Amino acid sequence: MEPVILVHGGAGNDFDERVPQFRAGVERAAQAGWAVLRAGGKALDAAEAAVRVLEDDPTYDAGHGSFLNANNEVEMDAMVMEGARLGYGAVAGIQRVANPVSVARMVMERTSHSLVVGAGAEQLARSFGVPVCPMEELVAGSSTHLLRPEDRVFRADKAGDTVGAIALDADGLLAVAVSTGGTAGKLPGRVGDSPLIGCGAYADNSLGAAAATGHGEALMKILFSKTACDLLGSGLAAQQAAEQVLELLSRRTGPREAGVILLSPSGEVGSAFSTHHMAHACISVHGMWVRD
Ligand code: ASP
Repeated sequence: MEPVILVHGGAGNDFDERVPQFRAGVERAAQAGWAVLRAGGKALDAAEAAVRVLEDDPTYDAGHGSFLNANNEVEMDAMVMEGARLGYGAVAGIQRVANPVSVARMVMERTSHSLVVGAGAEQLARSFGVPVCPMEELVAGSSTHLLRPEDRVFRADKAGDTVGAIALDADGLLAVAVSTGGTAGKLPGRVGDSPLIGCGAYADNSLGAAAATGHGEALMKILFSKTACDLLGSGLAAQQAAEQVLELLSRRTGPREAGVILLSPSGEVGSAFSTHHMAHACISVHGMWVRD
């Protein structure tokens, strides 16, 4: 199988002047994932590596740069899934780690659970040797995300800069990883679609893999990522499946800020978004492209 890495940096409407920055980040992330695949690495390692690059980049609403909740605190959600055995691990509302995606992977690989939240997730991370990262460090560099008092009203319709990556490796295995600080001004304790299986992401080697971004409360309602994979599995081309799942979201939940990237089991790529921008990048043996 020819390996592919596909990465996105979130669907949004209000960052025109920062588009080059968003493009550069997804390109770096795709290159990190590609380095793993090119060396014969596994899809999950590639997807995790790509997402870690974006979590470390304050441009995005994940890890460093996470949006703040109504208490001006960082609470992050992340998940990983691998498509061979439907392995799934996730964390929600985790606060003091730099790379929630890696903790999500620890949940999948080192516990008998699937989703761990809040203080328990942080405690688990520490028990696996993940260093504590002061919350101020996650906020540093993301001053554009600091909430002014008037921003503390949660805007349900406003998407963030959640990140996601899908990889297909040489063995034909699919994996997906997503990470987010969630929506700006969210209620403390609010969990979005991103850590929920079938909502923020899904991977099944017999169908394909999807990673979502956008208004979590709406995406959940139609199990957005699983629905996208089912459309792929029904025989639609990846691009058509991406467009149709967005259309379904809008039909069933009203017009929403949302975006999706999709990879079929044979490496066919699809992407669609309802916002002005969704920086995304893809690398395969055929080369690299970056779009927004
Ligand atoms: N889906 C994320 C959430 O609702 C936000 C985003 O993708 O922009 O938490």
